[in-house]
Amino acid sequence: CGIVGVLGTHEVSPQILDALKRLEYRGYDSAGIATLNGGNLERRRAVGKLVNLSDLLVHEPLPGKAGIGHTRWATHGAPTVANAHPHAAGPVAVVHNGIIENHRSLREELTAAGVRFASETDTETIVQLTAQHLAQGLDPVEAARATLARLEGAFALAFLFQDQEDLLIGARRGSPLAVGHGEGEVYLGSDAIALAPMTDRITYLEEGDMAVLQRGAVTVYDADNRRANRAVTHIRLDN
Ligand code: GLU
Repeated sequence: CGIVGVLGTHEVSPQILDALKRLEYRGYDSAGIATLNGGNLERRRAVGKLVNLSDLLVHEPLPGKAGIGHTRWATHGAPTVANAHPHAAGPVAVVHNGIIENHRSLREELTAAGVRFASETDTETIVQLTAQHLAQGLDPVEAARATLARLEGAFALAFLFQDQEDLLIGARRGSPLAVGHGEGEVYLGSDAIALAPMTDRITYLEEGDMAVLQRGAVTVYDADNRRANRAVTHIRLDN
């Protein structure tokens, strides 16, 4: 339902939590954050209000300067911790808004290949496919691209990769996603409102876009995998 990603200059989990709070108005049943802690993917997820996630973070802090967060409105799988995002498989974690229409056939294919699923969500097929592509030797950008080519349905996505402290990948098809440009930081958000406290410089991704974010550079590819120029707009949002 709500997506946030941050490549930051200091601890990002408080920033991500704040941004998720700004998306609360959209409604949600669970929430979670993943960061890179010394290069390793770590996650905290909680059912119910964001205060449950922030309480969990008090007891089990989530260090790291790169991270993704999500508020979930369950469509496939009950609102449980196991079904909450971020979903992870091996060296990759994903947050997802929307629905993967061909999740059933993807799950059958992956299960037949020996993959064991940890959730009931359509989303987990995305992260399992990406892990498979990485295991085949593709780099993160190639792996994400190969995954996107397999997906049917509507989605906005953010990918975070183990040991890739300066990389976030975003993608959108049928669901909005924006890139925010900060001072030495870059952000992803399903809604510019989420990013408003961090920056007023926003690039709205277009249908079919994939964005490769690094702190010093944002590269956008269009639906035909050609490099695309997307304008940076200055938004004015009160509060
Ligand atoms: N279909 C996904 C799920 O049920 C994402 C739902 C959402 O947009 O929050 O987990």
